[in-house]
Amino acid sequence: MTRKVFNFSPGPALIPEPVLRQAADEMLDWQGTGMSVMEVSHRGKDFMALHARAIADLRELLAIPPNYKVLFMQGGALAENAIVPLNLMGDAGQADYLLTGQWSLKSAREAARYGQVNIVADAAGADAPGAKGAYTHIPEQSVWKLSRDAAYLHLCTSETIEGVEFQRDPIVGLGEHEVSPDVPIVADMSSHILSRVIDVSRYGCLYGGAQKNIGPAGLTFVIVREDLIGRAHRLCPSAFNYQVVADNDSMFNTPPTFGIYLAGLVFEWLKAQGGVAAIEAINIEKARMLYDAIDGSGLYQNRVSRTDRSRMNVTFFLRDERLNEAFLADAREAGLMNLKGHRVVGGMRASIYNAMPIEGVRALVAFMRDFEQRRG
Ligand code: PMP
Repeated sequence: MTRKVFNFSPGPALIPEPVLRQAADEMLDWQGTGMSVMEVSHRGKDFMALHARAIADLRELLAIPPNYKVLFMQGGALAENAIVPLNLMGDAGQADYLLTGQWSLKSAREAARYGQVNIVADAAGADAPGAKGAYTHIPEQSVWKLSRDAAYLHLCTSETIEGVEFQRDPIVGLGEHEVSPDVPIVADMSSHILSRVIDVSRYGCLYGGAQKNIGPAGLTFVIVREDLIGRAHRLCPSAFNYQVVADNDSMFNTPPTFGIYLAGLVFEWLKAQGGVAAIEAINIEKARMLYDAIDGSGLYQNRVSRTDRSRMNVTFFLRDERLNEAFLADAREAGLMNLKGHRVVGGMRASIYNAMPIEGVRALVAFMRDFEQRRG
């Protein structure tokens, strides 16, 4: 059986086909054990080896420095919105948040239950370039109003709903507009982790849900600098305390074993593609093809500032919105699935994560041209 459609879902999202094939082949008999990987103990020798290999591969792929811990947790990125302040807000009792879209907005709102939240800039604020209340850009670092006493600065470096993405790591240093090395940067990287080369050392903590670029939903990754571990609030649940999770090698409680297994296969697949730099080059090309098609057309329009356009979640609108339903129906007919934009933003969104082959983007571009000729 081969795939019959291209799936542009924002998440849970496409998983590389060879990974699904291997998982299918091994489903009833994993590594000659006669059991499914889902049926074995997480503390058994074989699973522990798989777990260690997955973490080692992730460390290699992201060039994670040795003074960071990789934790596999549960609860998704939204649970981290509470887990992060519970672990990192500490005595400061306050943290800085940059608002660039729906996900960072949610993060800030949740954090406000645990301490003081300072908004360093709001991309949909009064002087925003887009329509009122719309998130269409990343405010320049020079306008962020950073607080000296913040326990950390929180960013969402890839806003899945609006299709806004940081194109470079924030600048850390002692300069006027730089983020002080004393204020660790915490970033929700759910929708672009492993899609581009990043400098992990600029961040204190990276986290996200696995269900876009890593594997199935149910697994959360946290990459945290060691000196930030051990500051948790006394009411932080043990299973969410970075110290407890790290001390127990992410096995304080039963981890999402099947998710970790699939994530491990995705990491192996990514290494076989040449690693993050190699996949980034393909991601650049895929995004270029799609934005060129949008910009070159009279029917489609992208509203994000050019410098902040996402390579992972390409949002676009039909200038004649009455054609939306026909566009989606014809797309489905052509095997191009899940292109409807998020309800908050409307329009269309094509999520083109690592696992989306370039042929999928080619098929989408060809369909969009054809639809415009027929209906535009
Ligand atoms: N942050 C970002 C950037 C996301 O894209 C999502 C999910 N789409 C979330 C947070 C929420 O993740 P979860 O549903 O895994 O909690």
